[in-house]
Amino acid sequence: MPDRPTILVLGGTGEARALASDLAGDARYRIVSSLAGRTAAPLLPDGAVRRGGFGGVEGLAAYLCDEEVALVVDATHPFAARMSENAAAACSELGLPLVRLERPPWRAGPGDDWRMVADAREAARAIPAGARVLLTVGGGEIAPFLERGDVAFVARMIEPPASPVPAHCEILLARPPFTISGETALMRERAIGMLVTKNSGGAATAAKLEAARGLGVPVLMIARPQKPPAPSAETVAEMLALIDRTLG
Ligand code: NAP
Repeated sequence: MPDRPTILVLGGTGEARALASDLAGDARYRIVSSLAGRTAAPLLPDGAVRRGGFGGVEGLAAYLCDEEVALVVDATHPFAARMSENAAAACSELGLPLVRLERPPWRAGPGDDWRMVADAREAARAIPAGARVLLTVGGGEIAPFLERGDVAFVARMIEPPASPVPAHCEILLARPPFTISGETALMRERAIGMLVTKNSGGAATAAKLEAARGLGVPVLMIARPQKPPAPSAETVAEMLALIDRTLG
């Protein structure tokens, strides 16, 4: 038996990094962060890090057994639905506790002009012909939008897309955080008439919503996928308390 419980943090978010840093400084626990390995130069958390997929539920369950993991913290992005489902299935199979760190979604306020859509396909269909769109759904999810040859896109992402994109889509490489003044300037310069985004939540990428409100730009907001139920926390501080309660 290991001398202290091992916590696996499924990461890929700023919150997961912050949590890992706090846990790495806590002598009561051994901590391993897991990254999918999609980003060539990811910001790495403190403590041990493993990279790459586990190989589905079976691979994850084998990893959890081999590493004698005592608790899994699902701190993946709100749109990383498959990893969350796999984690829930593997933990349930092994009788291991699973907790989730998930930032709250953005909510429309006074002055916002949002239309909620279920997924990227519905968003792509809902864009009016001739629109100039700022698209912030990430590199992996732009395909349904590129079919809209009657729309001009400025697609912002951290790393270039895997395949070349057609001429009606300009790729803008940038890493958050973004500022309201920067987002406003970008939307003005590119004559953006619509913002399409996923409801990721969080402060680092919220400035575009304030910029859109200020400029009167409508927003197509892609709703979050459902994740399996798990005891949850919205902040790192709440999660540290939840971990102590779960392992205490
Ligand atoms: P996904 O669709 O839920 O997962 C697809 C597969 O990628 C999983 O089945 C798993 O492969 C592997 N994977 C995902 N997260 C992993 C992790 N933390 N550690 C090890 N393997 C992981 O996930 P995604 O939406 O592609 O996101 C991939 C990563 O990027 C996640 O870590 C997520 O937190 C981060 N991220 C996602 C978004 C987004 O909008 N989706 C935005 C920002 C950051 P196996 O089945 O082989 O285990």
